Amino acid sequence: MLAGVIPLPTERVSLGRALGRVLAEPVDTRVSLPPWDNSAMDGFAVRSGDVTGASMSEPTILEVIGEVAAGHAPEASVREGTAVRVLTGALIPPGADAIVPVEDTDAPRGMATLPDRVAIQRGAATGAHIRVAGGDVRAGERLLGAGVRLTPPRLALLAATGHAELLVHRLPRVAVLATGDELVPVGEPLGAAGIHDSNSVSLCAQVRAAGAEAIDLGIARDRFEEVVARLRDGIATADMVVASGGVSVGAHDVVRDAFGAVGTLDLWRVAVQPGKPLAFGHAEVQLPEGPADGPEGDDGNGADPSTKRVLLFGLPGNPVSTFVTFELFVRPVLRRLAGHADATGRMLIRAELVEPFTKSAGRRAFLRVRLEPDPDRASGWRASMAGGQGSHVISALAEANGLAIVPEEVDALPAGALVDVMVLDEGGN
Ligand code: AMP
Ligand code: MG
Repeated sequence: MLAGVIPLPTERVSLGRALGRVLAEPVDTRVSLPPWDNSAMDGFAVRSGDVTGASMSEPTILEVIGEVAAGHAPEASVREGTAVRVLTGALIPPGADAIVPVEDTDAPRGMATLPDRVAIQRGAATGAHIRVAGGDVRAGERLLGAGVRLTPPRLALLAATGHAELLVHRLPRVAVLATGDELVPVGEPLGAAGIHDSNSVSLCAQVRAAGAEAIDLGIARDRFEEVVARLRDGIATADMVVASGGVSVGAHDVVRDAFGAVGTLDLWRVAVQPGKPLAFGHAEVQLPEGPADGPEGDDGNGADPSTKRVLLFGLPGNPVSTFVTFELFVRPVLRRLAGHADATGRMLIRAELVEPFTKSAGRRAFLRVRLEPDPDRASGWRASMAGGQGSHVISALAEANGLAIVPEEVDALPAGALVDVMVLDEGGN
C-alpha cells in the first residue's frame, strides 16, 4: 500500500501555523544559539582569579562598577577587584570569566538598587554559569531533517533560530464514509433495528489525530449506486477515501464492486485479525487546467500534475476492525502522503502477556491490551487484555493503550509470553 505513495505538494506556512505539519526540506541554522556568551544566573560577573578562596567567613569584597541586563550591551569592563551585576540572559561584560550567583553574595535577591560593593561568599571556576555562544546549536548546523513533524519544541527551535516561514507538505484530506442500512447518526433515535454510526466518528478522529483533515461523507445505504455516488464525492474533494463496512462476503457488501466502478480494486483481504476483509484500491482523477494545488502548484516530485491519484480503503465495519485496520494500514499511508519520513511512527515495547491466548494460525493477531510498567517482570512491562477480544467489543478498545502483536504462525501463547506491543499514543492513561 505504501509502494508508489508520493508525499503531497508543498506550501509555505508561517511558524505560527506550522504546528503538526511535516517539513518538506531540511532546515539549517544561520545563527548560533546562544548567539553570544551570556549569563545563566542573576548574579555578578567577576574575574574568577579574584574570588579564589572566597567563603562565607572570609568573603572577597569587590567594587560593583555597573550592570548588564538581558537585551543591553555591556558598558563597563571587569577589572581586577571589580564586578558587574548581571541578570539572566545578559551578555558577559569584557574582562569577566565567571558568574557568581546572587545567592552566593551578600546582595539582596530580587529588585534592588545597584550596590557599591558586593561580598562574594563562594569562589567561581572559570566559565561558571556562563552559557557559551554556540553551546546549543552552531551556525551552519542542520536543525531538522525533511519529513519530521513540527512539534512545540521544534517550533521553539525554529523560532529561536529566526525561521519565520517553513516549507511543509500540504495536509492530506481524507473523506470518511460509513456504509450500512442499520446505521443511524449519533443523536437520532435508533428505531427498531438501528445502531449508531460510531465508525464515522472514530475514523474522522483517527484521521485528525494522524494530523490530517477529515471530511465526513456521512452514511450510505447498502446500495451499489449510493455507495458509488458517495465515493465519487469523496474522490472529487479528497486525497484518500476511507469507507467502513460492506467489504466482506455478505449479500449486501457492495463496497468492493463500487471501488471497481470508480477506480480499481488493487487488493482484498489481509491476513490479520481483526480486519481480514480489508479492501484497497485507487482512482485516477483528471484535474482541471491550471495550478493543481495551492499557491505553489508544483509538487516537484515528477508526478503527472494533470491527474491526481486518490487512494481507496474499504475497512471492515466491526468497530474494532475498523480502528485496528486504520491503525495498521491507513495511518502509515496517510503519514507518507503527509510527508513523514517514518511511516508508522509508533513505538514497539516488548512486554509479558498476563493472560494466555489462543488463535488459529495463519493470521497475525492484534490484541487490545493495557500496557503498564511492571518492575516485577523481567521485561519491565506487562500487557493485560483490555477486555473481550471480539471485533465488536468497543469497550475493550476504549480501555486499550496498545496492540499486542501475535505472529501469524503462532496458535497459542502461555501466560507470561513475550509479545511486541504497538503503543497507541491516542490510548488513554
Ligand atoms: P459489515 O462490515 O458491513 O459486515 O459490518 C460488520 C459489523 O459492523 C456489523 O455488525 C455492522 O452493524 C457493524 N458496523 C458497520 N458499520 C458500522 C458503523 N459505521 N458504526 C458502527 N458499527 C458498524
Ligand atoms: Mg454492513
